[in-house]
Amino acid sequence: MTKLTLAALTAGSLLLAGLGASFASQGGQAAEPSRNDRVVKTDEEWRAVLTEEEFRILRKAGTERAFTGDFWDDKKPGVYTCAGCDLELFSSETKFDSGTGWPSYWAPIAEDRVDLHDDFAYGMKRTEVACARCGGHLGHVFSDGPAPTGLRYCINGNALDKIEPSAKGKGKKQAK
Ligand SMILES: [Zn+2]
Repeated sequence: MTKLTLAALTAGSLLLAGLGASFASQGGQAAEPSRNDRVVKTDEEWRAVLTEEEFRILRKAGTERAFTGDFWDDKKPGVYTCAGCDLELFSSETKFDSGTGWPSYWAPIAEDRVDLHDDFAYGMKRTEVACARCGGHLGHVFSDGPAPTGLRYCINGNALDKIEPSAKGKGKKQAK
């Protein structure tokens, strides 16, 4: 009896170890930088905290019409954050006027703020830009941007919020 129990236990822990190993190897092979502060919600939970337009863009990879979203012509200093999870994504210091009608940046604040994925939708090969914390769709990155990176992060303004420095030196969140 003891022997049997031991065998069962051993088999059980081998199984668990196997599962753990395969889980770890999947995580290790992921191309995207992993953050330990990921925000995961169901569609229902996202709908409760996002506007309809934010949900359509961030959670369903939608695109706002050019010249209609937030921030495309915004030139004031500040930090642009994810409308889904408030992660600080882009700075006014890397924003430039691309003429496209979407807010455009030549770099994110840091590389670990965005995840990049191949996107083959609509018969094109593009690179999707997603928030590294909540996975929300932000836009696409193209290689026709200005120096120093030559990149153009073409972002849906409605996927962003903004923190502008106030006179008191404290950031205030932009009301939408
Ligand atoms: Zn986010």
